[in-house]
Amino acid sequence: LARVADAKDLGAFLHVGEAAALERARAADARLARGEGEQPGGALIGVPLAHKDIFVTRDMPTTAGSLMLKGYLSPFDATVIERLNAAGTVSLGKLNCDEFAMGSANENSAYGPALNPWDRSRVPGGSSGGSATAVAARLVPATTGTDTGGSIRQPASFSGITGIKPTYGVCSRYGMIAFASSLDQAGVMARSAEDCALLLSAMSGFDERDATSVQRPPQDFSLQMRAAREGATAAQPLKGLRIGLPKEFFPAALSSDVDSAVRAGLAELEKLGATLVEVSLPRTELAIPVYYIIAPAEASSNLSRFDGVKFGHRAAQYDDLLDMYRKTRAEGFGAEVKRRIMIGSYVLSHGYYDAYYLQAQKLRRMIADDFQQALQHCDLIAGPVAPTVAWKQGEGSDDPVKAYLADIFTLPGSLAGLPGMSVPVGFGEGGMPVGLQLLGNYFNEGLLLHAAHALQ
Ligand code: GLN
Repeated sequence: LARVADAKDLGAFLHVGEAAALERARAADARLARGEGEQPGGALIGVPLAHKDIFVTRDMPTTAGSLMLKGYLSPFDATVIERLNAAGTVSLGKLNCDEFAMGSANENSAYGPALNPWDRSRVPGGSSGGSATAVAARLVPATTGTDTGGSIRQPASFSGITGIKPTYGVCSRYGMIAFASSLDQAGVMARSAEDCALLLSAMSGFDERDATSVQRPPQDFSLQMRAAREGATAAQPLKGLRIGLPKEFFPAALSSDVDSAVRAGLAELEKLGATLVEVSLPRTELAIPVYYIIAPAEASSNLSRFDGVKFGHRAAQYDDLLDMYRKTRAEGFGAEVKRRIMIGSYVLSHGYYDAYYLQAQKLRRMIADDFQQALQHCDLIAGPVAPTVAWKQGEGSDDPVKAYLADIFTLPGSLAGLPGMSVPVGFGEGGMPVGLQLLGNYFNEGLLLHAAHALQ
């Protein structure tokens, strides 16, 4: 808590819940005194964490980075939070993020930016920017994040930490404020693949309150990570593993510093015993227009609940009901959120639905099929997370399209619902960290974590 207070300038936290944290820490002490720490599932008792402010929490306010939800207190905990609390973790507070998780730099937060601890003049990435900053600055060993189109992998890459977004459906979305429901997935940002595995095991699993939650027994990802070592030797933990490099992930526009750091990471994978093979994801470029139709379409629908009636902000003065809606939404939402609501409403409207939304849905299926084709020739897919290192604060905010284009390498995996990670592999321009993206087939988190762990 003292470290968090000292690092206030980084803008990582939106709320520090000191009293709630101390109470949980005392409860954790009592559990440890009873020897529960040595029992199965006891490894997380007393571990301090902090959560992206998009997970609703009972003991701390939840804003989703928006003025719309300023001071909002949820009557329940998100499932992910409930499970991490039950595992004995101690939440120190809620972390900064782009408004409703829309963004790639944490500059769309209504409560100010989060700064990249490697160079405070740069962004930490987004939308889980506060989550990345908190881990990179060593304020907490791990944080939760959410990834709709890259928001765990990209800030992990920009901030030199390890992040995992599991297969869509592995973590419950119940209590995770919805952006684009068919894409939103919770995950972990931490210092190592081992920590990611530990946290993911505790927070994932079937939840009947989320209709897209996958029905299967609880998973032990730490065990899966170790079991994936089969057939390997101590010197070559990745022996026999085929890693596919999609040629579309190495375009001429990829900045040379990122290219060389990623290639150094790939050489390391080879040294560890993996074989690199070229594969193709021919519709990579189309992932950008497809995502930026589907995600805003779903967002425009999800965000219609913020109408000033049920919860959150309500305009102080208005003439009638319509005027109340109008003023409430004009005041409560920021520019990027409004832009997405407009795009989403447009692509879903009569006459445009077939031309945009329906076409995007078809292409989404084809993008997912492309991955299945590629994964016939390899076990994992590797490439860059983003075309550049973390940019300077303010550089991305003038041109939204430029920011959308930088999502090119994370969007395809999101649209397909595949699990993905970012693992630090080197440094680029300005000494900024570069992550290697690893993507696996559905429910192959164990293999992903194993490869990431071997690299560390
Ligand atoms: N940068 C992407 C967007 O702005 C991804 C965001 C996310 O994954 N939440 O939509």
